[in-house]
Amino acid sequence: WLLTSGGANQAVSAALAVLVIACPCALGLATPTAMMVASGRGAQLGIFLKGHRALEATRAVDTVVFDKTGTLTTGRLTVSAVTAEQGWDGEEVLALAAAVEAGSEHAVALAISASAPHHAPVEDFRSIPGRGVSGVVGGRTVRVGKPAWIAASGLSPTLTAARRTAESRGETVVFVEVDGRPCGAVAVSDTVKDSAADAVATLHARGLRTVLLTGDNPASAAAVAGQVGIDEVIADVLPDGKVDVIEQLREQGRVVAMVGDGINDGPALACADLGMAIGRGTDVAISAADVVLVRDDLTTVPVALGLAAATMRTIRVNLVWAFGYNVAAIPIAAAGLLNPLIAGAAMAFSSFFVVSNSLRLRNFGSVMNR
Ligand SMILES: [Mg+2]
Repeated sequence: WLLTSGGANQAVSAALAVLVIACPCALGLATPTAMMVASGRGAQLGIFLKGHRALEATRAVDTVVFDKTGTLTTGRLTVSAVTAEQGWDGEEVLALAAAVEAGSEHAVALAISASAPHHAPVEDFRSIPGRGVSGVVGGRTVRVGKPAWIAASGLSPTLTAARRTAESRGETVVFVEVDGRPCGAVAVSDTVKDSAADAVATLHARGLRTVLLTGDNPASAAAVAGQVGIDEVIADVLPDGKVDVIEQLREQGRVVAMVGDGINDGPALACADLGMAIGRGTDVAISAADVVLVRDDLTTVPVALGLAAATMRTIRVNLVWAFGYNVAAIPIAAAGLLNPLIAGAAMAFSSFFVVSNSLRLRNFGSVMNR
């Protein structure tokens, strides 16, 4: 304006208007305000969002993978049946199994060791992840674990039948072997959470696919999947194999959210596009996840996906508005067509719009559908 005919007044006015308009206030507010309001709303709904990365991924999630024990089920297992081989007594089998399992922290082990609290001490304890445990009890070598691990040498009809019955009910079975000979089976039952079927139905209604991913046997896994309505079952996965399954799903082009609770879910939660940990789960799962479901209620899974999507929409509208406003208004200001006072008011309004738009997230879940 100084070089053309405008004069100093005109030049200062236009410069001021440009400076005021170009202040990136609204742009700077667009993301943090939305995140802040979403975090607050999430906290009310029992959803702890750990960061921005989680939200970005959520938009495209098309598959939700659930861990079984402790996630879909309560994880509080109890011994439901003991079967003894001929020549053995059920209580003796359970006591031997309890003695060895006392050394392990697996949910199945805890249930078995609690069912026979006055068991003998174990020596030379060993734990083989994903298979079972072994140890020496009263001079006898005892192994307790998955049927496939124990019964490699062949099984009696008694134990085979016990296993089939238990697995058809969705229970987990371990075999007990003493000095190289299978002597019994212990079935452990778990309860499916009340909220599981609801959560799965809501996800299906939104067109998402659900997968049950477990280290447990296919029959029990299918029984639980049937109870909660999950489409796809991937069972018999070793503890460190869960992460590979998630990777394969992602390679197939799926955008995967993983819901888990255990130590062995940690890598899978970190590898998934969106990791969701059950708040009562292990520290490993919680620290590896992007979202923590504070309440032990699976219906917060679809709510969390919805909240994250709503937050991303809000951020996008904020950015489009804040950016578009600068793009449109700077040339007008530079052309000298904008009074600096009006520019100031417009500036304030754009920030006001961004903050108000973010605040709408406070109502998420109360009016909007979950
Ligand atoms: Mg688990």
